[in-house]
Amino acid sequence: KSGFISIIGRPNVGKSTFLNRVIGQKIAIMSDKPQTTRNKVQGVLTTNDAQFIFIDTPGIHKPKHKLGDFMMKVAQNTLKEVDVVLFMVNAEEGYGRGEEFILEKFQSIRTPIFLVINKIDQVHPDELLTIIESYKEKYNFSEIIPISALEGNNVETLLEQIKKYI
Ligand code: GDP
Ligand code: MG
Repeated sequence: KSGFISIIGRPNVGKSTFLNRVIGQKIAIMSDKPQTTRNKVQGVLTTNDAQFIFIDTPGIHKPKHKLGDFMMKVAQNTLKEVDVVLFMVNAEEGYGRGEEFILEKFQSIRTPIFLVINKIDQVHPDELLTIIESYKEKYNFSEIIPISALEGNNVETLLEQIKKYI
């Protein structure tokens, strides 16, 4: 099994921390340099039964100028070409305008989209349930997976779920 995966989400939700955990320090640091290249591989995780190829999606954020619009198109095309999109959000912050903006971009995309709720080490379980319920109303996610990229909780489960789609 082998598949392309793209992680998107607002700054500071924990995308790099997650990549560091699953792929390793070196590659994720390299990929933190500003990039404009299309479909750049951020890193590859090879296990005994699957290969996870993480693809960078630059520019999926609120456009501030014309280049922003262009980058937005590039990002949307990338999302159409991968096997799974991980939409990462911060459990501490819940649903906001930034998330709404990104969810709008998903409407024309058939790629399976996982909601990955990160930083669950920072919230009460009841609070997490409330966040899950509010996101269920916004979009029909293929999977909803709470994790802590920092502490590693549920990261293995997330990889197992991805395997079902690649
Ligand atoms: P990115 O901008 O989405 O790549 O976010 P980063 O990976 O750089 O993380 C932003 C900040 O959130 C850093 O200080 C991380 O240590 C912290 N962070 C990331 N994941 C977690 C998590 O699961 N729990 C907690 N408590 N902090 C996290
Ligand atoms: Mg980062």
